[in-house]
Amino acid sequence: MKFALVCCGNEESYGLLFVGGELLLYDQEIKFFDAELATVAEDVIAWSPDFTCFSPMTTFFSYTRDISIKVKEALPDVVAVFGGHHAFSDPDIVDLDGVDVAVVGPVRGSIDKILEGERGIIKTCLTVPSDMPMPSREQYYKDIPRMATRYRKVMLSTLGCPWNCSYCSSSSSHIIKLHGIESYRRYYRNRRPIDTIIEEAKEILRLGETYEIEWSDDEIFSGNEAETWVPEFARRWEKEINIPLYLQTTSVFALRVSDEVLDSMKNIVNCIGMGVQAIRPESLRIYNRQWDNEEKMKKAYDRYIKHGYSVNMQAIIGLPVEDPVEDAIDTIKGLQRIGAGSICSIYPLQIYPGTAISKYCKENNIEMNELSTGDTNTGIPNIKFDPKDVKRLRNLSKLGTMFVKHNVSEEWIRILMDVEFDEETSKKISLTRYKECVMDRLKEKGEEVFEKILKTTKLRY
Ligand code: SF4
Repeated sequence: MKFALVCCGNEESYGLLFVGGELLLYDQEIKFFDAELATVAEDVIAWSPDFTCFSPMTTFFSYTRDISIKVKEALPDVVAVFGGHHAFSDPDIVDLDGVDVAVVGPVRGSIDKILEGERGIIKTCLTVPSDMPMPSREQYYKDIPRMATRYRKVMLSTLGCPWNCSYCSSSSSHIIKLHGIESYRRYYRNRRPIDTIIEEAKEILRLGETYEIEWSDDEIFSGNEAETWVPEFARRWEKEINIPLYLQTTSVFALRVSDEVLDSMKNIVNCIGMGVQAIRPESLRIYNRQWDNEEKMKKAYDRYIKHGYSVNMQAIIGLPVEDPVEDAIDTIKGLQRIGAGSICSIYPLQIYPGTAISKYCKENNIEMNELSTGDTNTGIPNIKFDPKDVKRLRNLSKLGTMFVKHNVSEEWIRILMDVEFDEETSKKISLTRYKECVMDRLKEKGEEVFEKILKTTKLRY
């Protein structure tokens, strides 16, 4: 059978690469299609597949469904399979036109059922992380060559997160509700074998041009075995791969992990992303991150800096509170107190289906903003605020990196949040923010890499 795998966005479609790898184990014919191209539906139709596979984030769901509908108009027998984050959060998408199957859970265990003709919701069982196919990058890079030379590739060692943020569809409670605590611990809280990870990375090195790996573990320093696993992984990575990693953590594990582990990663990490998200205790409570506070964040930040790391602090503004703009300014001032001079990324809150915050918004009749596309890069908040606040939040989100890096005073922040930017300027601000983040991580190679990014990336702003 022929499976068309439709990939969205600028980063690698990591989930679909595992789907491709699993399909190859079943001797199926696969081909990847680039949904960044306006002709994607026609390209798929011309190949005449039996199945189309999509793994969109919520942001891309409507877009991929439109592609699916278009393909089905030309090829009515094509079966459209949706998996990944959005299908996991909202399996009821199977009732919509353009969706025949929603896979809830990993790809392993679904292909037999799909080939046997099962339709509707297919829930797969969680096994162990070592029981995952190898991502099918060879075919992917052949079909979408721009991804082979994309400066950044995506990898991970653990699939799940120990936290339970109200806005996140990867939160532990969501997964436990679906799969049970034992399966969650076994599949989501264990790590892939180091040998497998190294094998995957060697293939990335062999097949393309790569300057950094975005390490997608939500907390690489979490778990009891971190003290032994991380140094062993770092030793192997430095010796056999040696491409810099961009990691994600929270303050709690930054403070818990030993000096030895932090030192072991120093040579292979170019930046650590630290989730701050909000500063006011009541805002952290809305995010279900009451386990964090500014004091811990500051200590964690200082510890990373002392160990020689660059830190990218991350925050989310546009909360369902009485004074969202004041809350956002408090967050920016908090980021300055923690690490003025550092890079930070500030995004507007997006309300994803199936999350605790989406339930909260429904229960409290909080309306959504029809101008929001769900893309955080636009800076447009998902919640409907009055137009003046929407503009201010958008400006704070887009200019926040500059405010923190250059420690801009509150007076200037308040003036600049009211400035009206035309499209061209808005694009330039997003570009500069993007460039500063890349330069911070890739240092002297940053300029050259950014030039390449501009040629191959559809910038969303
Ligand atoms: S720490 Fe990150 S991945 Fe984990 S629940 Fe929170 S937002 Fe989701």
